[in-house]
Amino acid sequence: MILFRTPLFAAALAASTFLTACETKPATATEVGSPTAEPAADSAAAPVAPSAATEASTTPAPDPNSIPAGSIADAATITARPQVPILCYHQIRDWRAKDSKGAKDYIVPVQKFRDQIKMLADSGYHTVLPDQLHAYLTTGAKLPSKPIMLTFDDTDLDQFTVARPTLEKYGFKAVYFIMTVSLGRPNYMSKAQVKQLSDEGNVIGSHTWDHHNVKKYQGQDWVTQIEKPTKTLEEITGKKINYFAFPFGLWNQQAIPELKKRGFVGAYILAEKRDPIDPLFTIRRIIASGYWTPRTLHNSIVQSF
Ligand SMILES: [Zn+2]
Repeated sequence: MILFRTPLFAAALAASTFLTACETKPATATEVGSPTAEPAADSAAAPVAPSAATEASTTPAPDPNSIPAGSIADAATITARPQVPILCYHQIRDWRAKDSKGAKDYIVPVQKFRDQIKMLADSGYHTVLPDQLHAYLTTGAKLPSKPIMLTFDDTDLDQFTVARPTLEKYGFKAVYFIMTVSLGRPNYMSKAQVKQLSDEGNVIGSHTWDHHNVKKYQGQDWVTQIEKPTKTLEEITGKKINYFAFPFGLWNQQAIPELKKRGFVGAYILAEKRDPIDPLFTIRRIIASGYWTPRTLHNSIVQSF
């Protein structure tokens, strides 16, 4: 796993490596215990969805930019709504001898991934997308029963070749947060594949140019890391890009107005606490670990949201 902690070296690293991992630590561990811990045997069938607002809706989610500011709930109301579970995946491939113990939190073996997704389908989960979540959080709009969001970071090719057909089998849709420096490189998705995911009803989000830590941006960094890559994604998909995922899950309050200024309506972090002032820009996700059985994943979903 390569971690881009130092801006001076990050661009060079990004240009020279094909194996880029996303996060600084297995963020789920602090909230749900050891990734390898087994939950109670009967947990896989337990209901976990938020109890309110779970009836299936037949109307598509409104464009988040069309929701009048006056009808958007305040931060306290948004924070008080039951959280929708959101999973974060990186690489979906079988482990190799050189993979470190830590890296395996971010590398989900193929069959394990299929088993995890099958568990979600068998348990009655319905995938939701960011516009649906935004409408739910801001206006209380209804969601399908047992909502869950699946997100994929860092542009890895196996998200297209392995995850996509698996999700398709169950009618699941997902969010792909793209790091544009990688587009078209070996082991990463091409622009055409990103376009296809978008055309098929998945959502494309922005994940910077080359995975620099947002907390260190100054001046032109906002153009290089946020404005240009987002424009690239809009050109590829033909759609406005409304959502952002912080590299490594790292964020600060200063970054939020910068994202708002550039047209984003929401941003995703990892398992740390949300910002009580701006919960829409600190939406929580947990990393679905490569160590987790379907039952462990289910237990983590229940405990983390
Ligand atoms: Zn990432």
